[in-house]
Amino acid sequence: MVDAQSAHAAGVQRLVQSYQAAPATTPIRLAKATSNLFRTRAANNGRGLDTSGLTGVIAIDAEARTADVAGMCTYDDLVAATLCRGLAPLVVPQLKTITLGGAVTGLGIESTSFRNGLPHESVLEMDILTGAGEILTASPGQNADVYRAFPNSYGTLGYAVRLRIELEAVKPFVALTQVRFHSVIDLVAAMDGIMATGSLDGVLVDYLDGVVFSADEGYVCVGRQTSAPGPVSDYTGQQIYYRSIQHDRGVTDDRLTIHDDLWRWDTDWFWCSEAFGAQHPLIRRVWPGRYRRSSFYGKLMRIEQRFQIGDRIEKLNGRPPCERIVQDVEVPIARCAEFLDWFLRAVPITPIWLCPLRLKGDDRWPLYPIRPGQNYVNVGFWSTVPVGSSDGATNRLIERKVGELDGHKSLYSDSYYSRPEFDELYGGDSYRTTKKRYDPDSRLLDLYSKAVQRR
Ligand SMILES: Cc1cc2nc3c(=O)[nH]c(=O)nc-3n(C[C@H](O)[C@H](O)[C@H](O)COP(=O)(O)OP(=O)(O)OC[C@H]3O[C@@H](n4cnc5c(N)ncnc54)[C@H](O)[C@@H]3O)c2cc1C
Repeated sequence: MVDAQSAHAAGVQRLVQSYQAAPATTPIRLAKATSNLFRTRAANNGRGLDTSGLTGVIAIDAEARTADVAGMCTYDDLVAATLCRGLAPLVVPQLKTITLGGAVTGLGIESTSFRNGLPHESVLEMDILTGAGEILTASPGQNADVYRAFPNSYGTLGYAVRLRIELEAVKPFVALTQVRFHSVIDLVAAMDGIMATGSLDGVLVDYLDGVVFSADEGYVCVGRQTSAPGPVSDYTGQQIYYRSIQHDRGVTDDRLTIHDDLWRWDTDWFWCSEAFGAQHPLIRRVWPGRYRRSSFYGKLMRIEQRFQIGDRIEKLNGRPPCERIVQDVEVPIARCAEFLDWFLRAVPITPIWLCPLRLKGDDRWPLYPIRPGQNYVNVGFWSTVPVGSSDGATNRLIERKVGELDGHKSLYSDSYYSRPEFDELYGGDSYRTTKKRYDPDSRLLDLYSKAVQRR
């Protein structure tokens, strides 16, 4: 543990030194091995800040159920370090290479979010390298303004180098139940019912999400932790998890180890691996197992984007190029069926992922002002559509609809808001005050430039 702490201290020092050495005129970036950001960004020749010593778990206090974790530690590594002690983070984003700092500053979510809220709500304190070049500790009682403004700031106020987070006890297996629905209204009503009681048919639920394949085919997926030994399924090989939930009517059951349950969406990047042929039985058989993971598909996707391979193929086939629609939006649960009904008619993308969420506490987080006590559903859709009459036509349509329904959109991907709209939606005044205080010389990019202007 002492070794981990001194390694971390050395890592922080290297980060600070690289920050001090960065030319004042070059936009600052992290040099990271992985990213789950989908915005196309302006080219940047800068070397990026040295994060090499900030990728591990520093210490776990099993009794207090807390972990001290370096900012750029992936959830893959964090989960490996906690599960062997029968513990897990309160919210484990579905993609293995998402880092704790990335999920806190970029708002991760997953199927415990209906009971545990969002990753930043389980942060007890964090050390941040601010834009001013200082390392300071932020918590509800210390530098509380930056602690509150950090979620959804995407590294524009500073970088988290250490986070102390809460953990929860977990059991070794998860029993899954998948309930088929023939209408989105019924499906959303069932999710609402589970959120209200925390249970399905009187039995407590630990994990809750869902998938819509079409207007008359959707599933609520429920998981319950269990210690009961027994056979488990494996979706890291030839079987494909999201296909396994499909059935004609009623309910099906399944079981996974807790490890495989937490990563059940990573193997096929939800369903996005299909774009690379990885779900075709013949190709899947020869596709190396170690490349069946979201980070590898992400790399392929970035190559595709760089060389515009998809658009070239469309052109060869006489079709228009595509607009990328890779988005997660939060809609109040009372408007969710309305959103889905509109989406299924207006945007030709399925499947759609549903993940209910409610903030764990009563606190407000100014840069992503969803309301405490309100049930929301995160709706995720990741594909392309034919280009429209203007740049980002379908993305803009979605932004408008989400706004009409009193929802919010995550900022990890393309956004098209005007600055006044953006300020209103993402805590503009509060952001500017905090930015001025912690990044007085604007060494870090501003959130609008990053999220909308793709800098
Ligand atoms: C297709 C797709 C699906 C997704 N699905 C999910 C999902 O299922 N569940 C989920 O929770 N999230 C999901 N996300 C969103 C993801 O959690 C966010 O994009 C998150 O910010 C990525 O974190 P990262 O660690 O990969 O950071 P990066 O992608 O490397 O960086 C993201 C941003 O965070 C900043 N940043 C990174 N580390 C830090 C730090 N330590 N301190 C401050 N700022 C930092 C970077 O500067 C950058 O602006 C998805 C994203 C995509 C593209």
